[in-house]
Amino acid sequence: MSEYKLTIGLEIHAELKTKTKMFCDSLNDPNEHHPNINICPVCMGHPGTLPVINKQAVECVVRVGMALGGKIPEYSQFDRKNYFYPDLPKGYQISQYKHPLVDGGELLLPGSGKKIRVTRVHLEEDTGRLVHEGNDSLVDFNRAGVPLMELVTEPDISSAAEARAFAEELQLLLRYLDVSEADMEKGEMRVEANISIAKLDEERGIKVEIKNLNSFRAVERAIAYEHERQAKVLDDGKKVIQETRGWDEEKQHTFSQRKKESAHDYRYFPEPDLPPLDLADKKYFDLEMLRASLPELPWQKRDRFAREYGVLGDASQMMVADKAMADFFESAISEIMEWVDGDNGQARRENLIKLAINYTTSDLRALMKNAEGSFGDLRITPENFAELIKMAALGEVSSRGAKEILAEMFSGGGDPSDILESKGLKQVSNESELVNVVQKIIQANPETVVDYKAGKAAALQFLVGQMMKETKGAANPQMAAQALKDTIDKI
Ligand SMILES: [Zn+2]
Repeated sequence: MSEYKLTIGLEIHAELKTKTKMFCDSLNDPNEHHPNINICPVCMGHPGTLPVINKQAVECVVRVGMALGGKIPEYSQFDRKNYFYPDLPKGYQISQYKHPLVDGGELLLPGSGKKIRVTRVHLEEDTGRLVHEGNDSLVDFNRAGVPLMELVTEPDISSAAEARAFAEELQLLLRYLDVSEADMEKGEMRVEANISIAKLDEERGIKVEIKNLNSFRAVERAIAYEHERQAKVLDDGKKVIQETRGWDEEKQHTFSQRKKESAHDYRYFPEPDLPPLDLADKKYFDLEMLRASLPELPWQKRDRFAREYGVLGDASQMMVADKAMADFFESAISEIMEWVDGDNGQARRENLIKLAINYTTSDLRALMKNAEGSFGDLRITPENFAELIKMAALGEVSSRGAKEILAEMFSGGGDPSDILESKGLKQVSNESELVNVVQKIIQANPETVVDYKAGKAAALQFLVGQMMKETKGAANPQMAAQALKDTIDKI
């Protein structure tokens, strides 16, 4: 197979989390299980009805545009996109063509930092849903008219992994902005990929569109599959056909759906029933307030967590993806910081933060996964968690004991020092207590003591092991080794 460069552009749709639909007051409820409940004459396309623009939906898209650094034009308008399909009661979809809400913008891929330019973000309405039962096809219109955001990228993506990374980062952004749940399994976010391949020294090839990508894995696999398929077509001396292809999840391949239609097939024209949007008119939209309402964005959090706490790699990925986890971690850290002071604060601070990162992203997360819970309904308070981290750092409890206390706190809440007492997990770091045990162990193992004096390092390890056994794991191992050495050296 010759080598071909891959060029990918994405079109991503996301259902917005508004109270009502895009152009009527029917409820926008993605969890409605009964078909055709949230409908009205407007979203059913009855003659004589008129649409009204949902302001909340417009604001959602404008905030996405602002977060991406796109331009918010003063003038924007809705257009009719004409096509026929049974899930589209009006016979046209209200969308935006020439004057989208957001012009341009960019998103940096986490990790590589590669810049992917955004062409536009616009607003439209979703269609109904077809349900096939035996020989019958049924239509559920609950989703018809739900506000749908569409984001289009420039063809800046050059691998399946980059495409996936872009979609994941956008999902995070939509969740941070609280404009969409963007759950791909539920169809709240849908990805289409435009793919072309060309020899390394050639211009871009023929564009093929893959629709119906309903998971991040599908995005990655479908692109990889299409790369290979098109390469084979070219290797065989044939031409790639411009078309729309679907993704078959079961068979893990793409299949031809239809020849690609062009924009003029849709006969776009300005929607006569809606006024154009004047985004500069403060009577309707306060752009400055919308900009001020942007929360800390995923990439800003990533940078800040790296800078302030040294959270990197997998830990960073986990915390940025799980806002509740990050919030919990930060609250615990602020508790810990109150406790650190004085001149030797810096080293202690770093050690404590490192412990807090590990316990949060490893132990606590594992407990959570097992219990199928989430950080949102955690029973451990940040104060108690911070207390446990301090106890572990001070050696008041062994790391094994700390994990036991953490598990106890996870299931029943509670104060770590109470659990420490009641479970008898207090680590013996008190020298006089240790000395008694040292004497006992030395007397019980005279031969090992001789071995140690003869220079066998393993003998000391054995004696430390005996100390741990005698104290049921409560001895601080470093201190036990030191106490043994000190005592034996005097013999
Ligand atoms: Zn309606």
